[in-house]
Amino acid sequence: MECNLQYGLSTKLIGYVMAGVLLTSAAIGMLRVQNERGSLNKLIDEVGQSVATATASGAASLVVGYDYGNLEILAANVAKQANVIRVTIRNKDGRVMTQSAGKMTGGFKHFESPIVFDGQTIGSASVDISNDTLEQALSALYWRIFIEQITFGAILGLIVYLFTARGIVSPIHKLTMAMEEAVKKGDSFVARDLAVKSRDEIGRLVSVFNTLNQSLASHHRQLQSKIDFANEELRNKNILLGGRTQELEQALDLLSTMATTDWLTELPNRRKFDETLSQMFYQSERYGNPITLVLFDIDHFKQINDSHGHGAGDEVLRDISTLLRLQARKSDQPARLGGDEFGIVLHHTNASQAEIFVKSFMASVQDQVFDYDGFRLEIGISVGVAQYDAAMKSPQELYYAADKALYQSKNEGRSCYRVFS
Ligand code: GH3
Ligand code: MG
Repeated sequence: MECNLQYGLSTKLIGYVMAGVLLTSAAIGMLRVQNERGSLNKLIDEVGQSVATATASGAASLVVGYDYGNLEILAANVAKQANVIRVTIRNKDGRVMTQSAGKMTGGFKHFESPIVFDGQTIGSASVDISNDTLEQALSALYWRIFIEQITFGAILGLIVYLFTARGIVSPIHKLTMAMEEAVKKGDSFVARDLAVKSRDEIGRLVSVFNTLNQSLASHHRQLQSKIDFANEELRNKNILLGGRTQELEQALDLLSTMATTDWLTELPNRRKFDETLSQMFYQSERYGNPITLVLFDIDHFKQINDSHGHGAGDEVLRDISTLLRLQARKSDQPARLGGDEFGIVLHHTNASQAEIFVKSFMASVQDQVFDYDGFRLEIGISVGVAQYDAAMKSPQELYYAADKALYQSKNEGRSCYRVFS
């Protein structure tokens, strides 16, 4: 592509320069031929006329004396001269006194001179000069001028081409190469300035290109620094956002914990308990593994609050929770259901296995020493136990069953457990 461009311009230049130089040479050649032809003609005219004049003066005394013999010799001698093809001497009546004729080939020129004796014209001498020499000389002249003009034209053309190639094609070629290189590299501007080597239009073109290129490069750099700055800002914002997201995630975690945890005992709350109960209920319904729900409520808890204050009540709630957490298996789900009521769902456990757990737990409550402000608090719990039954249609039914058993143990003297049947 670039080569085509270069040769295209060079070829055009050579064509234009050669055409111009050859036309000029041809015109100059024609002028020269015209000029040379004129001076040759003039020279031949002068020579012819002087031969005619000399013949006339030589013939004057011979014509007066009617010396035909010498007139003939004179004419023959003149006719011997180069290019003279015929000499004629006439008397004043125009009658030919003598004539020497050579070969009459090709064209000729006729010259005449009066023969004057004692101031009187007594006849005339005419000389015919051959044109052959003139034609030969002219033909040689044409060729010489043609070769001279061709040589001159070729040398001039070459010089003009070399100068124009250096001054026009080369800078344009360099400009194109620099732009193509930038395009190939994917740059939006040319990396370096191009040398301005002349003050003509090409020089101005290169100079204007440099100015535009510099302004493009400067805009590009400004844009790049803005992009870098924006990227940096974006990075910082991302880091900040990452931090905020982490804070938000922590806050959400806390919120989710708060939503499912009892703030006083840190056991799961009623909401979490209901969720777990429901999950275990339907798993049991589907796979047939037994689950048992245990509910318990502190006996006469109001009295503790009333006698020792709310703080004492809180302390008891926390101690009971700790005991429950210690006794429960990892798979079981203990929870504070509200007030002084707690619950635990025992996984893979039937009612009789649950009784073992309940007895053990009640014993640990009984053994636990509840001290508050120097007072020993007597704590007892009433417990209701209910095992999942295929007849139960919802987790609520299981819950009501355990609650019923709890109610029964309260009614039947407290500090005991009852199993729903
Ligand atoms: P019962 O043997 O029939 O269970 O009698 P009770 O006095 O324990 O009565 P009930 O279980 O109905 O009363 C629970 C009380 O627990 C009522 C309320 O004042 C108290 N309570 C509820 N929540 C809290 C709490 O977070 N802290 C304290 N200290 N007391 C609470
Ligand atoms: Mg109670």
